[in-house]
Parts: sequence; C-alpha cells; structure tokens
Amino acid sequence: KLDFAGRIARSLGSNMREERVQAVDSVDLSVMPGEVLGLVGESGCGKSTLGRMLCGILPRSEGKIYYKGQDVDTLKGQALKEYNVNVQMIFQDPFASLNPRKRVRKIIGEAPLFHKLTTSSELNDYLAKVMLRCGLDPSYTHRYPHQFSGGQRQRIGIARAMAVQPECLVCDESVAALDVSIQAQILNLFMELRNELNLTCLFISHDLGVVEHISDRIAVMYLGRVVEVASVDDIFNNPFHPYTKALLNEVPRLDRRGVDFTPLEGEIPSPLDPPSGCHFHPRCPRVMDICKTEKPVDTEVAPGRRVCCHLATMP
Ligand code: SF4
Ligand code: MG
Repeated sequence: KLDFAGRIARSLGSNMREERVQAVDSVDLSVMPGEVLGLVGESGCGKSTLGRMLCGILPRSEGKIYYKGQDVDTLKGQALKEYNVNVQMIFQDPFASLNPRKRVRKIIGEAPLFHKLTTSSELNDYLAKVMLRCGLDPSYTHRYPHQFSGGQRQRIGIARAMAVQPECLVCDESVAALDVSIQAQILNLFMELRNELNLTCLFISHDLGVVEHISDRIAVMYLGRVVEVASVDDIFNNPFHPYTKALLNEVPRLDRRGVDFTPLEGEIPSPLDPPSGCHFHPRCPRVMDICKTEKPVDTEVAPGRRVCCHLATMP
C-alpha cells in the first residue's frame, strides 16, 4: 500500500550561523512500506536534518524525495495534504514540542478536526480511542502538558501524530530524553503501533542499542553521509564499515564474538570543515592513503547491503 521512497539523490544543505553546512550530503535511502529503518550516528551527523527534510519541515537545497513513487515537489492540493498528514514526525523533547498553553484535548484533537477525520460532536470518542491506544488516560484531556510525566508527555506527542492516522512516522531521538525503563515502554508502544497498523518508520537515534530491537534495517550516518545500510543482523553480527564497528563497540553486549572491534577515538569533526576524501579518515583504524583524498563510492557489497568505504572496492 505504501511505497515510501525517501530518496534524496543529490546533496542537501542547511544554513547554520550564516555559514553553509552540508548537513546531509548525497544521501540515497529508501524505506519500504511497513518497514522500520533505523538511522544511527553521532549527534551532528545530519540524521535530524534528514528526518526534517522528509517531513517537509526543513527545505532541501538539492535532491528529491519520493513518496509512493511520487516526487513530493510535484504534489499539489489534496495530494500534498495527504503527504503532510501521512508522514508525521515525533520529536525528541516532549517539553519543547508540546505547546504548554494548550490542553491535551487541543494538542491531540486539533489536527484530526482540521483534516475532517472526526467531528466536534464525535471528538471525545475519537480522542478516547487514540489516547487509550497510546497508553494515556482519556479522562485527562483537560490537562496541560506540565501536568504529565516525561514518559506521558512523549505518549501525548505520539498520540498527536497517531490522531491523523499516518502511514509513516519519522521518530527523531524519540526516547533519548527518557529514563531507561520508560524508554523500553515507549519503544514497545512504537512496536505495537507499527505491527497493528503496518506503519512505516524512520527511527533516528544516536544509540545503536535503541534501534536494534525496533528496526528491520539500519542505516549508519557519518558527517552527512550514509556509510553503511544493512539488515539489523548484518550490522550487529557482520558489520563492514570501520565506523559501524566503532559504534557497535559502544553497545554493551555479551553475545558478540569473532568480530574485530576497535574503539572510536577523537571527536566528530565540524561539519563546517569536513575532512577531505572519506570524512571518517582521521578517526579510522584502517585508513589508507587513498582515503585522505578520494571520496569512497556507495557500493553494493551484497544484495540490499551498501557500504561507502574504499575497503569495499579493494580487489
Ligand atoms: Fe576507513 Fe578508508 Fe573506509 Fe574511510 S574509506 S572508512 S578511512 S578504510
Ligand atoms: Mg538530532
């Protein structure tokens, strides 16, 4: 039913402090209908920028986004409205993303009323259903966001997105601000919603451990570029890219053996002045001369598995 091809073919940029930053560079990614694609990388690598562009919150400098095979720039009228409703974003910080002066009734109910998914007379029942499904007490519709805990506020954020019956969610660090026990509850809620409604998700996180259980495939980003895309199993048990290996090193697990892990040293360089060649070369334990000057190309190393590293094209 859903053919979400979030495909950004060329380079994209955004302005930061009057300097032009190529926050997302030559990213080409697809998310299949009903699939959860985890997008991981250190903070500042461009994950959020990418997510915001997909939702139309940030403009692209170049590149294309296709939704169900359609170039979103060509959508007009009803089709554009459908795209905007069908692709919903869930943010990291439930404090910042919920209007403190609005009651929950308005926060969750505004959009479905506007899009005529319900009527004023049926709104109470509609809200009750959505809130219950998201683990919220429907009798709290008169409350304000500050009257809820952090976990409940994130549930409100999810309910607000779910209230318009989206097909696709872009979740940006949606559990990062929560305690570990609450994180697990919210991740479970995402998995339930996804299974029941066959939702398509782009699940953005700096933490590989968070995306592991919820994702079908994982894309790893470094300084604006996607460096590896593979199934969860391959990422965890047979990682290719030196950066993926380094990220994995930060996920504590007992059952990983036989994979060569190297700790990641140094800070992520500034996106204002990224290293030449392979952006990862100053930190890479496998760095070669070619890495310092030549940008590695995106290579399919196995069906559905892509790596951007000179090691992938070595004979
Ligand atoms: Fe390391 Fe070179 Fe591969 Fe970059 S291209 S990840 S520097 S081996
Ligand atoms: Mg971010």
